[in-house]
Formats: sequence, structure tokens, C-alpha cells
Amino acid sequence: MALYNVMEEVVHEVLIRYKDQLHLTCQCEHCMNDIMAIALNELPPRYIVNKDYVPYVRAAHVADRQGATNIILIVTKAAAFVSKSPRCPTMNPATLKSTE
Ligand SMILES: [Zn+2]
Repeated sequence: MALYNVMEEVVHEVLIRYKDQLHLTCQCEHCMNDIMAIALNELPPRYIVNKDYVPYVRAAHVADRQGATNIILIVTKAAAFVSKSPRCPTMNPATLKSTE
């Protein structure tokens, strides 16, 4: 049995939709994952067992205006944090060199 956190999908969607408005200094996979991780740690998870229910749970979240605004706010905050100090090799050539 696998548990599924619907919040992951919701945060991912918000990130993709607002990517251009978040003023990201880097849009590589590493940075996007960092933003997702920070945002998801701040948001309460929404676990479900059956993946087929994802669209319903997601729809409920979109309908919840205040909840949706809160998610955007947290993603914006996480994006600002990562943009200020990106930890990926793309933005840190020195780190890349030391791991070679
Ligand atoms: Zn990056």
C-alpha cells in the first residue's frame, strides 16, 4: 500500500503556474525541488491511499480560496529563500568543482 501526499501535486502546480512571477534566480530541477521541499515542510500534508481520488482532493483545495492563497504565499516565501541562496551546482560552480 502506498500513501500519496496530494499536497505535493498542489505545490508543484502552484510552482509551475507562478514560476515566471516568482523572480527565480535559477530554475533548474535542484532549485525547484528545494522550493518544493521547503514549502511542503510548512504545509500540512494531505495523505490519501487511493491515487484515483487525487482530482477530488485537489478540486477541494482549489475551491478553498483561503487555503489556496496560503499555499501561494508559502511557495512565494520558499522561492524567495532559494533565490537568495541557491544551492545547486549551476549557481555554485565552486561546489561543483569540489565534488568532481
Ligand atoms: Zn539551480
